[in-house]
Amino acid sequence: PSTVTVAMLARVMNVKLAQLLTRMRRVGLESEANYDYILSADYAALLAEEFGFNPVVDDEAAFDIYPPKPLDDLSTSPSRPPIVTIMGHVDHGKTTLLDTLRSASVAKGEAGGITQHIGAFSVPVASQTADSTGPRSITFLDTPGHAAFSAMRARGANVTDIIVLVVAADDGIMPQTKEVIDLLKRDDSQVDLVVAINKIDKPSADPDSVKKALMAEGIQLEDFGGDIPAVHVSGLTGKGLPELVETLSTVAEVRDLRAEQDGPVFGHVLESNVLKGLGSVATVLIRQGCLKIGSHIISGTAPGKVRRMTDPSGKPVQVALPGMAITVSGWKTLPKAGDEVLDGSESDIKKAIANRLRRGVAEALQEDVEAINEARKQERD
Ligand code: GDP
Ligand code: MG
Repeated sequence: PSTVTVAMLARVMNVKLAQLLTRMRRVGLESEANYDYILSADYAALLAEEFGFNPVVDDEAAFDIYPPKPLDDLSTSPSRPPIVTIMGHVDHGKTTLLDTLRSASVAKGEAGGITQHIGAFSVPVASQTADSTGPRSITFLDTPGHAAFSAMRARGANVTDIIVLVVAADDGIMPQTKEVIDLLKRDDSQVDLVVAINKIDKPSADPDSVKKALMAEGIQLEDFGGDIPAVHVSGLTGKGLPELVETLSTVAEVRDLRAEQDGPVFGHVLESNVLKGLGSVATVLIRQGCLKIGSHIISGTAPGKVRRMTDPSGKPVQVALPGMAITVSGWKTLPKAGDEVLDGSESDIKKAIANRLRRGVAEALQEDVEAINEARKQERD
């Protein structure tokens, strides 16, 4: 095949994956330097030349649909809601907090209290006026532990703008709290942090010592002259949640989050399911462009034509904009959580699917060959 994943190109050229990744970074393909990144024919040819090969490209077989390059300057693009993920140690109250936020927002919504689990929900920002530049709503993702997140992370796709680190006021910093702190320190992408000191309703709550412990971990809290906000909340009683939403809105406003609405659609599948009467359904987080009823879409090897879209409260929508998570039906096959969603013409998508399937078969065959070789080697040893 003339278009391949990074891992497969390494195998075809018989070079170590690490060696190829290093070379990719050196020639400026940093964000593409992932084992499962699908290389365009141009990049594959360029890299093959780097290793002394003389590649011939079959344009027809190499055809695919690629994510649009993000614009350098988004200053004239429309604002978008922030994407927020809640993280923290087990039992510190992530699920409770999400449930309370979700039910409060659904009660205000139009679907009449039916909370459906689609991997995301949207909370309106109460204080926004017509001329405000802050976001009108906040999109919460509630799938951080799910397959979608590891798949997106492996691809270097950072969908989260703000992480809410939940720390129980009666328990303090625990191993998974530390993991999140380490992740934030490692992260070179621009993710903001908001600390939610939770379970503030408990008599044993000691928020001040939690704050001191966070400072000791290098989290520069506003209370101590830093720039990271900490909000006292109770996911159980709902106390402090309006302040949390307000704080997230302020952080988002400072970030001035924008996305292009014209041009190609780019999104990620958060969850996918086969539902009675609807067939294959996927929650798609739109990152760029605007998805419409009737759009032809592709995700992995799943083609689709958007038949129906609903927002997290179950209300049908005609147009899905960046920052929105919507449930899309009209897929011919079930897309995978974590996969990219792109749009295109019906014929381009058909061609891309055929090529992706072919590459998938070639890759599976290559894996089989390797497994057989490995088995033979072990027999010999
Ligand atoms: P998760 O593991 O982080 O998702 O934590 P859960 O949301 O499942 O909560 C763990 C336990 O803490 C449950 O028994 C909750 O009822 C309790 N809990 C969560 N939030 C609060 C809170 O704000 N106050 C009190 N008192 N208990 C809470
Ligand atoms: Mg939980």
